[in-house]
Amino acid sequence: MNGEDWRELALAQRLGQLRARGLERRRRCVESYERDGSGVEARIDGRQLLSFSGNDYLGLARHPDVVAAFAAAARRVGVGSGASHLVTGHHCEHHALEEALAAYTGRERAVLFSTGYMANLAVGTTLASRGDLVLADRLNHASLLDAGRLSGARFERFVHGDAAAAERLLAERTEGNALVLTDGVFSMDGDVAPLAALASACRRQRAWLAVDDAHGLGVLGSTGRGSLEQAGATSEDVPVLIGTLGKAFGTFGAFVAGSAALVELLVQRARTYIFTTALPPAVAAAARTAVALAAAEPWRRERLREHVARFRAGCSSLGLPLGESATPIQPLVLGSNEAALLASARLLERGILAAAIRPPSVPEGTARLRITFSAAHAATDVERLLEALAALPHPAPA
Ligand SMILES: *Cc1c(COP(=O)(O)O)cnc(C)c1O
Repeated sequence: MNGEDWRELALAQRLGQLRARGLERRRRCVESYERDGSGVEARIDGRQLLSFSGNDYLGLARHPDVVAAFAAAARRVGVGSGASHLVTGHHCEHHALEEALAAYTGRERAVLFSTGYMANLAVGTTLASRGDLVLADRLNHASLLDAGRLSGARFERFVHGDAAAAERLLAERTEGNALVLTDGVFSMDGDVAPLAALASACRRQRAWLAVDDAHGLGVLGSTGRGSLEQAGATSEDVPVLIGTLGKAFGTFGAFVAGSAALVELLVQRARTYIFTTALPPAVAAAARTAVALAAAEPWRRERLREHVARFRAGCSSLGLPLGESATPIQPLVLGSNEAALLASARLLERGILAAAIRPPSVPEGTARLRITFSAAHAATDVERLLEALAALPHPAPA
């Protein structure tokens, strides 16, 4: 075998294994948005589809004001930021967005990151290191797990949603700092973390609590301030809040909000902040407009709640095994990868896109349709989805 062949063979073998296990993923090309351009109906791989697989919960990704803010800023300052934040890449648009996010979340300061993944790595590696303890909920987003691992601290996972389990692990520590990491809303299940209980455990055990509210901010709570607002948790309870801009705020990027000293330490020390190019300032301008719209237009959250209620009532009368979730993330757990792929394919035949989510995004044996709603959906869209689910050949086993 010559020099190149063994490499190609090794790669082909690994790809073949994924295919055999039903784990091969395929990317779909979104060609254009149809109907009113709101984004829920799109031409994808040549087909007209109604999508229930996005994270644009408030329907802001294509909002005319958000697009206009983006275009105007791009005309003014161009596209690339030109450098990292600490060199010459920090523009006034970034700064204005950070101030808006601090105000929105009720914190002293906020600092922008290019992605939520990087924001989480920054929190893990800045607040913990060798000799410390990092705890993470088992069902946390992959980026929080990686944050714990990369920190160099002892890293342990606790039973999903179990604050008492977390506290037992915290109580065993004899030295060093401790950091507890949790999603606010779990991204594949839609359930919420027990924030009040985690906050008390962390207070008793002198541990930091960091909450990644990628799917809660803009959506949950009486004014959309997210999981913390819904749980009545203060900045004392949760000193570190991570948010993303690519979900309910319909744009791109992420941030960490907290005390002035926490944010300053991240700016000074976080490698995923220091060693990367700043976001395009026009993205920051667009995100600032989106945050203002999210705050000013409560009807978007109201409509989301109506869709979720309509969907859950419909599934309940169809006897479908929906997970316990009151958020716009509604999981229909089907078990095997094949079952999830088959259900997704059947819906696709009826023009509906509900992606099959498989390991490693979810634990083995819990493949599912992850159905999400947006304020851009109409009530008739939800009805269409329910009709398509009703027509699935075998109602999924509970
Ligand atoms: C999407 C997501 C992230 C990553 O955010 P990006 O900005 O897309 O990198 C982090 N945490 C959670 C819980 C998420 O759902």
